[in-house]
Amino acid sequence: MDPSDWIDVTTEKNHYSLNHFVIPSHYERDVSSILIPHGVIMDRIQKLARLIVDDSQGPLVVCCILKGGHQYFADLVNEIKKLRRNNGSSVPLSLEFIRVKSYTNDTSGGVNISLTDEQLKEFEGKNLLIVEDIIDTGATMVHLLNRLETYNPKSVKVTSLLLKKTPKSNGYIPHYVGFAIPDAFVVGYALDYNEYFRDLDHICVISDEGKAKYAV
Ligand code: 5GP
Repeated sequence: MDPSDWIDVTTEKNHYSLNHFVIPSHYERDVSSILIPHGVIMDRIQKLARLIVDDSQGPLVVCCILKGGHQYFADLVNEIKKLRRNNGSSVPLSLEFIRVKSYTNDTSGGVNISLTDEQLKEFEGKNLLIVEDIIDTGATMVHLLNRLETYNPKSVKVTSLLLKKTPKSNGYIPHYVGFAIPDAFVVGYALDYNEYFRDLDHICVISDEGKAKYAV
């Protein structure tokens, strides 16, 4: 996927006022703007599913990166199931769920993966599709991919709904990107701040008041 095919919502004019859409009243003061309304997210996922199915070369093991990726994963899998390849065939899917934690204070870098060695060995020879909610610095994804490669999958592709444009990026770019977003902390559509906002449908920028209210 070429970067010109990402939807770029990085500028000020891409932010919708809170008056333009419905926000749950318990979050009204906790977000400053709506960056991507839920309907646009859903329409974009249809297109990402189409691109993934068109490129697919056989059965896919679709890997959900928990917890933030679960909503995107669920909606993407639903769309992929509806689609056929050009030759009329559908794509056989199996689903896997991986909880990934970066060792942030470890200079060697790395990730803790919730699957056992035995479970990871099952990936050998398979086509993996990793489904992530957001790439920020790219560190988590690069560590995860290095780890998965050691189990010799046939192919590994990554889709991230959001790619943050940040100077802290390590340059990693997923194969399928929904939206390029500004360097701000976003919540909603299962992206959380200390476990809050997972019940907000739109992707929003958190406000200073929201950060203070839900700080731990
Ligand atoms: P990275 O390793 O790419 O810097 O960070 C990846 C993880 O950081 C994401 O999977 C996500 O959990 C978290 N993250 C980064 N930016 C944001 C953000 O703007 N909002 C939320 N909710 N999580 C974020």
